[in-house]
Amino acid sequence: MTSLTFHGATDTVTGSRHLLEVDGKQVLVDCGLFQGPRAIRARNWQPFPVPPKSLDAVVLTHAHLDHTGYLPCLVKRGYRGPIHCTRATLDLLGIMLLDAARLQVEEAEYANRKGCSRHQPALPLYDEEDARKVLGLLEGHDYGETFEPEAGMRMHYLRAGHILGSAFIMTEVESTRILFGGDLGRYGQSIIPDPTPVSRADYLLIESTYGNRDHQGVDVHAELERIVRRAARDRGWVLIPSFAIGRAQEVLYLLEDLRRSGRIPAVPIYLDSPMATSAVPLFVRHTQDHDLEMTALMDSDRCPFESPNLTFVHTRDDSKRLNDVEGPAILIAGSGMANGGRIRHHLIVRAPDPRNVVLFVGYQGEGTPGRALLDGAPTFRAFGWEVPVRARIERLDALSAHADRGEMMRWLSGFETPPQRTFLVHGEPDARAALSARIQAELGWNVHSPALGETVDLN
Ligand SMILES: [Zn+2]
Repeated sequence: MTSLTFHGATDTVTGSRHLLEVDGKQVLVDCGLFQGPRAIRARNWQPFPVPPKSLDAVVLTHAHLDHTGYLPCLVKRGYRGPIHCTRATLDLLGIMLLDAARLQVEEAEYANRKGCSRHQPALPLYDEEDARKVLGLLEGHDYGETFEPEAGMRMHYLRAGHILGSAFIMTEVESTRILFGGDLGRYGQSIIPDPTPVSRADYLLIESTYGNRDHQGVDVHAELERIVRRAARDRGWVLIPSFAIGRAQEVLYLLEDLRRSGRIPAVPIYLDSPMATSAVPLFVRHTQDHDLEMTALMDSDRCPFESPNLTFVHTRDDSKRLNDVEGPAILIAGSGMANGGRIRHHLIVRAPDPRNVVLFVGYQGEGTPGRALLDGAPTFRAFGWEVPVRARIERLDALSAHADRGEMMRWLSGFETPPQRTFLVHGEPDARAALSARIQAELGWNVHSPALGETVDLN
C-alpha cells in the first residue's frame, strides 16, 4: 500500500511537504517553510499534519527554505530521525538554517519592541539551538548513490540544475518508480550543470512556478557588460542587491568571465555579505555540482572567485568605510529585495547620485523596497533616512534559477513513456493551470493539481 499526501506548496510556491507512505512507514519529502503573505505564513504556526515523532525519515530535494525552513520546527516538535540530502545541500543548510533562525529571533524581538504583534509576547518559530539540532541529523549522499530511508524504499539523487546541491529524488518501491521533482533548474546556467534528463517514472511530482511564463531571451553577458562599462565611464557605482546563496556567486562568476575576456575593465568588486562570502568555498568544493566550464576553470587553476579586483567585506565597519570610496566600483550585498541587510545603507549613500546604477538580479516581491524602486519610487527610506533616487534602476531577470515553461516542456519531453500520473505543485493557481493545460495538450499526459491535504494512492 503506497500513498502520497500533499501537505504544502499546493496553492502557493512555498511550504513544500509531501508525505510518502509505504506499508505504514512514513517518509516526508521536503519540509518547507510557508513564506509570503501573512495568511500563508500563519500555516507555520499550525500543528504539523502528522505527529513529527511518527515520521520515519525526511528526504530533501534542495536547500531553499521553502523546502527546508520548517525543519527546526519539526525537530522542536519531537522529530529525531535521519534527514537525507545531497552533500552540497548538507553544507548549505549549515549556513542557511542558522541564518533563518537568527532572523526568526530578530523579528520576534523587533515585534516585541514595537508592540506590533498580535501575540504577547511575540515568539520566534524556532531559534539557533533548534537549527543546530537539525544539522546533527543530516546525512549527505552523492548523486546516483542508492540509499534506503526505510526498508523497501530505494532512493537516489539526480541533478536538478536549480541551485548548488539541488536534486530530483528517484524513488523505487518494488517496481514502481516515483520521481520527486523539487524545483527544476535552467539549461546553460553558470556553475551548475543542466537538469538530468529522465526517461521513465510511473509517478512524477513537479513544480510549476513559471508554468505560464518564458524568461526573456536576454544575453546576460551583454547586458552586464553594457551596465558595467557605462558605470566605469561615469565613475559610478553599480549596486547589486542579491540573495546570498547562488545568485551572488553567479554574478561574481559572470563578472570575472567578462573581465578575463576583456569585455569589462578591472573595476573593484566588493562582496559585502558575510553569508554570501561563507558560501563561496562551497561552490568551489562541491565539484559534483560543477558544469563543464566551471570544471575546466578549476582544472586549469583559474578559480572564478579569486579575481584580483574582488574584496570580501567582513565587518560592519569595513562596510561603512566603503562610503568614502570613489567609483567606479561594483558592490554586491543582501538582501535581494532591499528589505534588509547591508544593501540598505549603501542605497542611502549611493541612490542620490545619477552616476550610479542599482541593478536587480532576482525576483522582487510585492510590497518590498526592491519592487518599489523598480516601479519608479522617487525616494528610498531606511534607518530613519529618506533620500531621493537619482541612480538609474536596471534589472536582469534572466538570472532566474527556475525553468520557464519552455524549459519545463523540454525536460518533460525527455520521457520515453508518459508517467501514469503527473502531480503539479509549487505554483500560483494561474501558472499551475496553464502548465497543466499545456502538458495535457502537447504530451497527452494524465495531470493532476492536488489540493492541500489531499491523499492519492500510488499502486
Ligand atoms: Zn528552490
